Amino acid sequence: MNLDKARHALQQYFGYSSFRPLQEDIISSVYTKNDTLVLMPTGGGKSICYQIPAVTLEGLCIVISPLIALMKDQVNALQTNGISAAFLNSSQDIGEQREIEADVKRGTIKLLYVSPEKLLTDSFLYFLSSLPISLFAVDEAHCISQWGHDFRPEYTQLKTLKKRFPFVPMIALTATADKITRRDIVSQLGLENPTEFVASFNRPNLSLNVLPAYKRMDSIVNYILRRPNESGIIYCLSRKNTENVAARLQKAGVKAAYYHAGLNAHERNRVQDDFITDRTPIVCATVAFGMGIDKPNVRWVMHYNIPKNIEGYYQEIGRAGRDGLISDTLLFYSFQDLAILKSFAEESGQKELQLAKLDRMQQYADARICRRKILLSYFGETLLENCGNCDVCKNPPKHFDGTIIAQKAFSAMMRLDEKVGFTMLIDVLRGSQRQEILEKGYDKIKTYGAGSDISAGIWQQHLLQFLNMGLIEIAYDQNNTLKLTEAAKAVLFQKKKVDLVQFEYKSKKEREKQAARPKSKKAQLYEGLFEELRQLRRQIADSKGIAPYMVFGDATLKDMVDKAPTHLFQMRQVSGVGDTKLRDYGQVFLDAILNYIKTKGNTRVDAHLERYKSKDKQISSAQVTLELFKNENKSLQQIAQERNMTEGTVLGHLHKASQEGHQIDWLEFVSLEEIEVIEKAIKVVRKRIPKDEVFRMKFVFEYLEEKMSYVKIRSAVAYRQKMEN
Ligand code: ADP
Ligand code: ZN
Repeated sequence: MNLDKARHALQQYFGYSSFRPLQEDIISSVYTKNDTLVLMPTGGGKSICYQIPAVTLEGLCIVISPLIALMKDQVNALQTNGISAAFLNSSQDIGEQREIEADVKRGTIKLLYVSPEKLLTDSFLYFLSSLPISLFAVDEAHCISQWGHDFRPEYTQLKTLKKRFPFVPMIALTATADKITRRDIVSQLGLENPTEFVASFNRPNLSLNVLPAYKRMDSIVNYILRRPNESGIIYCLSRKNTENVAARLQKAGVKAAYYHAGLNAHERNRVQDDFITDRTPIVCATVAFGMGIDKPNVRWVMHYNIPKNIEGYYQEIGRAGRDGLISDTLLFYSFQDLAILKSFAEESGQKELQLAKLDRMQQYADARICRRKILLSYFGETLLENCGNCDVCKNPPKHFDGTIIAQKAFSAMMRLDEKVGFTMLIDVLRGSQRQEILEKGYDKIKTYGAGSDISAGIWQQHLLQFLNMGLIEIAYDQNNTLKLTEAAKAVLFQKKKVDLVQFEYKSKKEREKQAARPKSKKAQLYEGLFEELRQLRRQIADSKGIAPYMVFGDATLKDMVDKAPTHLFQMRQVSGVGDTKLRDYGQVFLDAILNYIKTKGNTRVDAHLERYKSKDKQISSAQVTLELFKNENKSLQQIAQERNMTEGTVLGHLHKASQEGHQIDWLEFVSLEEIEVIEKAIKVVRKRIPKDEVFRMKFVFEYLEEKMSYVKIRSAVAYRQKMEN
């Protein structure tokens, strides 16, 4: 099996022009009937690795997937791309199952998704043995290993497959597998010398940001209001928090729901469903949310609280930007949250391990070097260059001498007998008139108000840095009061210097100013059209009862806005528009684009028109002709009329295309006998014309007494050239 066929299928069914790194190698490996193990991050494009072999190989591909809830979506998505697929699992009644089995028997299905339970029944295995099976694909393969985080006992029986079908290649795919799990997958499945492909876990399209938790709700609302219609997830530590955050968002006029394990199954399903179908674009959730969700257009993920460990964090932010488009991740960092997690860890059965993991998480949040480097190093990868897409890279920290600030804080702590926590310490430093302070006489100490020139938010930042530098400690067992360490005493009494990172906190005014910055005309135009197309996608999805992303993904809509196609053949060049989607949705989307351009009868439209006119030029006039001729089956005459040119010019375009290697059937325009006559005439004419005169079709036309059309003459010349090449 050659890769040209694979590339062709990629274009035809999925509308993508090229494979991503590794996809091609993986598909080759499957073609050579190797067992194959694939490790790729979420959104890396694993599905294509078995779906392309499935549609190009003879026979049936069996996909084993533990996520029953996702099967229907996966099958639907394939069907909208014109691929015949089906699923079998316990959610269907016997009648439905029989029907699908009959289709499978008839050979009309290329991919069959089954749950491991279903697969391993004797009757089903018997059924399989009667079928021409091209490939077994084991999705979410980490579930196979007891070392994996999502272990499913049913999977341990899958070894049977290799025993019963030793000649059918198997591909196992997962987004999470360390070395032990990897080995376990191989042995559990009985894979034979599998070729292993390990993709980088880097997700460059995700921006990484850590923000102070101070006034985080303001930051969140602000961020969201600037991105209407975008889909996102806010992860919170507690159930209560998810509800509170959702309520705050709703108050700000944002459509948001909450999700946690305390909801009943029905409610949870509804929230998930509304999220996938974009009805509720934002969900505030505990980490329980997201496992079975395959939504490609999550544009941002926030952590309202710092997560327990990096594995979890990476998996959660990984739910953003599966479609490869730029997406943001924001982590709000507070030491109160850290303190809570520390106390959880202390009480857990695996105290040492949990604390060590939390420590790594904290190091990440505190990082003053490229965050992606830290993240990837955790997974054993080295990033050589700074990523340029994390907050540290974008805004390298500036350091300054913070000795005096430190001395003020430490001195206040001493004078308060190390009996206060963060909030009280800051209030004393800032000279607050709070009743408790006056009652306790804290306003009498020497450093009262000594830090009033620094805002509370910035104080938080400074104290956090002292904490991380080991200058102060939190006594979790004494009401989270702050204690000085020996190192702090060196700062107080031996004038040891302290280096602080400058922290920029934007005031509300500044943020509002930034938010109010008007968008450029061009940006408005883009967004307007994107929004129109999004609405249209929505309507189509609703009427078909499928998720909007199954009609077209965000990446495809974006490319559509960029390319602004005005002909069907141009629509075909949009990434993600394969043959079936072109047939089913091409015209409606084209109409929407044309209509948008027409109805915005003002300067915006002109800009737009200009934009796609220049695109037209880039494509070249000859190419436009070729596409109309080949893909829309238009006649020479029709094209000439439509494009306002002579048939000769149109034919000239086709001639050029033919010289560039495109297949044109010239005998459509001229018969073999006519070619013979024309060629004779050309020979005669060539001999007759003087040396310094250029050969022209016109001479032949005249020599033949205008009995043969230019179209025939040109076609004859082109035909001969093609035969000679
Ligand atoms: P995974 O299963 O690894 O999480 P998917 O298979 O769902 O990832 O792919 C993620 C997204 O990338 C999908 O929207 C998919 O259509 C898209 N994609 C995959 N391969 C390509 C490719 N070669 N070109 C463009 N887009 C691709
Ligand atoms: Zn970086």
